[in-house]
Amino acid sequence: MIPLCDVQQQYLSLKTEFDAAILDAVARGRYILGPNVQAFEREFAEYCGAAHSVGVGSGTDALHLALRALDIGPGDEVITTPFTFIATAEAISLVGATPVFCDIDPQTFNIDPAGIEPAISERTRAILPVHLYGQPCDMDRIMDLASANGLAVVEDCAQAVGATFRGRRVGTFGDLGCFSFFPSKNLGAMGDGGMVVTDHAEYFERVEMLRRHGGRVKYHHEVVGVNSRLDELQAAILRVKLRYLDTWNDLRRNHAQRYNRLLSGLTAVQCPAERNPTGDTGIPLDSSSVDNSFLTAVYHQYTVQVSERDHLLAQLRQAGIGSHAYYPVPLHQQQAYAALNYGEGSFPQAERVAERCLSIPMFPELQPEQQSQVVQTLAQGLESPRRSNPAA
Ligand SMILES: *Cc1c(COP(=O)(O)O)cnc(C)c1O
Repeated sequence: MIPLCDVQQQYLSLKTEFDAAILDAVARGRYILGPNVQAFEREFAEYCGAAHSVGVGSGTDALHLALRALDIGPGDEVITTPFTFIATAEAISLVGATPVFCDIDPQTFNIDPAGIEPAISERTRAILPVHLYGQPCDMDRIMDLASANGLAVVEDCAQAVGATFRGRRVGTFGDLGCFSFFPSKNLGAMGDGGMVVTDHAEYFERVEMLRRHGGRVKYHHEVVGVNSRLDELQAAILRVKLRYLDTWNDLRRNHAQRYNRLLSGLTAVQCPAERNPTGDTGIPLDSSSVDNSFLTAVYHQYTVQVSERDHLLAQLRQAGIGSHAYYPVPLHQQQAYAALNYGEGSFPQAERVAERCLSIPMFPELQPEQQSQVVQTLAQGLESPRRSNPAA
């Protein structure tokens, strides 16, 4: 058995630290926006290199409240990628605005900046790039497009905590950066949690107010807000984990390089590539030559592209290897977004990648022998005939 992601191993490896932090928070008895939330907000902002941060109930709420801080609402359009988790577009819809999709770069899985300009209309208010699987988007071009057209930028960093672009952490390029602490994320809580970071005092104050019923002073409400606060126990846990995040992300990058090496013999498998603003692709096979000055992806997922994806997925699972198609249906083809009237062929790259993407085990504690076993099983799956009748 090799899981896709192993959160239990992480707990066990630091059990004493977690148990002490949790019991301490319990004993202090300040459960709502207590000392751990306050300290973690400071530590997380510092880690990212942002001026402010606000802990919220989830990554989805982080996106939702960031858009509300920008006063985006009904009649407004927000440009984003159709190849992401539903929460990205959901947040746009939750504020009453309309998601406008544009196609992806199939090599990086991220929004293709070339498609953004044609998607801009009179109603466009913001661009919402997603650093999918932990790989930073081309923030040079996205920020240029935003400033040329007077648009705000909200970054969905749910899968990319710690990733850098030109030496700067993601989440600090746009007006606001949004993070998720869902348990399986690179910095995962033991429940739900999220964070908004920003350099703008005004947006900071807005999100801070919105997360607790829209008021600065208790029982005085300036706007209609929500109840969405980062939980005190989760903050205590996340403070422990933040200290290990860079080490864990480095391990993920090493595992990605090993996968690249092991898979280089399998021509039917397309490995994920890192794309620098210079257009170079591919991460170096030799870790000593890694140039981190442009971009460091943090491999929330290691996702390959293959034809006959579903066949390989079944083969891997049968062999006890965790794998998944993130994401099998692009958002413009989801039933929830039928009313937007996109159809098959609207975003050919996203549609093709949705049919071909296959994520294989990736977590810091993954062992080299396990990676070899995953690749061997993949190779066998590529050779084994596809069964035309799965029930036979
Ligand atoms: C996980 C995720 C979210 C939502 O985060 P939650 O904490 O689960 O609400 C948003 N966007 C992307 C790309 C994600 O992967």
